[in-house]
Amino acid sequence: MQKIAMTTPLVEMDGDEMTRVLWQLIKDKLIFPYVGLKSEYYDLGLLNRNKTGDMVTVNSANAAKKYGVAVKCATITPDRRRMEEYPELTEMWKSPNATIRSILDGTVFRTPVTIDCIKPVVRTWEMPITIARHAYGDIYKAVELRSDEPGECIMTFRGESGAEQTVSVQKADGPAVWMSQHNMDSSIRSFARSCFQYAVDLRQDLWFSSKDTISKIYDGRFREIFEEEYSDYRARFEELGIGYFYTLIDDAVARVIRSKGGYIWACKNYDGDVMSDMISSAFGSLAMMTSVLVSPDGCYEFEAAHGTVTRHYYRYLKGEKTSTNPIATIFAWTGALKKRGELDGLSGLSDFAALLEKVCLDTLRNGVMTADLAALTEPGFEVDVVDSWGFISAVADKLDRELN
Ligand code: NAP
Ligand code: MG
Repeated sequence: MQKIAMTTPLVEMDGDEMTRVLWQLIKDKLIFPYVGLKSEYYDLGLLNRNKTGDMVTVNSANAAKKYGVAVKCATITPDRRRMEEYPELTEMWKSPNATIRSILDGTVFRTPVTIDCIKPVVRTWEMPITIARHAYGDIYKAVELRSDEPGECIMTFRGESGAEQTVSVQKADGPAVWMSQHNMDSSIRSFARSCFQYAVDLRQDLWFSSKDTISKIYDGRFREIFEEEYSDYRARFEELGIGYFYTLIDDAVARVIRSKGGYIWACKNYDGDVMSDMISSAFGSLAMMTSVLVSPDGCYEFEAAHGTVTRHYYRYLKGEKTSTNPIATIFAWTGALKKRGELDGLSGLSDFAALLEKVCLDTLRNGVMTADLAALTEPGFEVDVVDSWGFISAVADKLDRELN
């Protein structure tokens, strides 16, 4: 078979531990034999981030901005324990995802990969639900304090013009805790635009929820900006037969549980944090959750939602063949190749990526799967539990048969 040619490079961000091992295996067995891969490679492995003073992360994000599509392997975010594990680290480097997000200024969309033999906990769900999480502000950028005597807390905004606005938060008659949070119109607007654009890409309805009955100014502003941005998208939505729907967060939660799925649910930062864990575990497993960061100017960065699977990596280092599920990482690659094909008008590339996804799902449907999934299948479903190498080989064999 002649390899599928690419015209624009894909930005490749390599990572750490078990996912780095899978990354190479996926490329060797599932991509290189079929695609003349054109990629601009950035090694975001922890030691290279350290060696480059984390410039490699910044450069990779700028490359993603330049070319429009990136695929990222999971990476270690160093903490105190990692500083001991890697004594050569000169700094407790920031999370690469946070660095990339701040450069691309995007929204994170998470979608579960679903198959029939693993039923979601919620019986009415027939199609995946995508969570779109706003990734800036609110309690994640809040300031807090604690007081231990009676008194009054006052919040003041001082404009550059010198004008001031002041409100009394509360008079306290004893010890109390306080928090002040914020968000920016510009960030809310990019969030809204990314959500509307993604709904158009996926041809799915968009839901957005907040608590604007209680938080009339703060959440009210989110609702207003979404409505303003929707006016730019309304015609496109009507043309595609999809809708935009705003509701209160508590109503949304109740409706999600009774729904059939098949839509995008845009959530404020905290709601998205909590609800994406709920959605992924109710659909099956974090190892089946794909994630894509979409920037308001149309850059896409695809990755798996899980981490570097450290526990498996240490078993791998001892010579064990682990049963780590590569699905979310394979789907990060197929998502990126599909998008590259779409942007460059290379239908052969997009078709190949779609076929690879289908072959992965067929392999699972035939009962060939890693241990994490085997534990979730319906009673009576016959499984052949394999390690990561066995799974990727089974997918490669099937892909070969489909293509030849
Ligand atoms: P994790 O790597 O997601 O793994 C947690 C556990 O979930 C694993 O021990 C494993 O359970 C199960 N699991 C996750 N992915 C799996 C897969 N593909 N196949 C089978 N089982 C899977 O989370 P973590 O252990 O909390 O974090 C490890 C490192 O990843 C940390 O250094 C963290 O900074 C980093 N991280 C990176 C990203 C990212 O780059 N996007 C995201 C999250 C975490 P069992 O051990 O029970 O089999
Ligand atoms: Mg969380």
